[in-house]
Amino acid sequence: KSFEDCGFSSQLMAAIKKQDYQKPTPIQCAALPMVLSGRDIIGIAKTGSGKTAAFVLPMIVHIMDQPELQKEEGPIGVICAPTRELAHQIYIESKKFAKSHGIRVCAVYGGMSKLDQFKELKAGCEIVVATPGRLIDMLKMKALTMLRATYLVLDEADRMFDLGFEPQIRSIVGQIRPDRLTLLFSATMPRKVEKLAREILSDPIRVTV
Ligand code: AMP
Repeated sequence: KSFEDCGFSSQLMAAIKKQDYQKPTPIQCAALPMVLSGRDIIGIAKTGSGKTAAFVLPMIVHIMDQPELQKEEGPIGVICAPTRELAHQIYIESKKFAKSHGIRVCAVYGGMSKLDQFKELKAGCEIVVATPGRLIDMLKMKALTMLRATYLVLDEADRMFDLGFEPQIRSIVGQIRPDRLTLLFSATMPRKVEKLAREILSDPIRVTV
């Protein structure tokens, strides 16, 4: 398996090369073809497995496939993560691939000024990386709409549940159109996470590494 098999654009291949990713990690080998073909997935994987690129690379492809991007508002890709630290890491990683395509990424998490985040969101972006609580705050302030969102990632779902974010996650998912693509990553699959996955993913493929 190689990144060449994925049919990525030359800009995306160049960005991958620039990161010095020689070949896909096991989670990337398993997830990339599935997600690129439009399937929902449950990824059982830990940090360090390369799962971020496994959901960010197809997200870039998905965004570039949208016609008439400029006409609508709000992010196309929405990534939820349990902590500021993880959200920040995902933000940094996704920017590396997004910038080669002129895709804008916004980070939305606690510890940063709400007013600054509000302004940044109002200026527009195609990808938002967020912790659930702060994303809900921004939605309530009407800093963004989910009308254009069609690609949702829930990263470290088990940790988001441990931190009590289940109601926020359900609220966010409820604001995104049902014909979206949904990817759920988790290190473990406790019953509550399994139940959520059954409710919000459609005919998912399970990928375990
Ligand atoms: P993650 O599990 O997404 O947090 O990724 C862990 C680390 O692996 C990050 O520093 C990534 O930049 C790096 N990484 C991701 N994919 C690859 C790859 N295919 N080859 C080499 N390093 C990678």
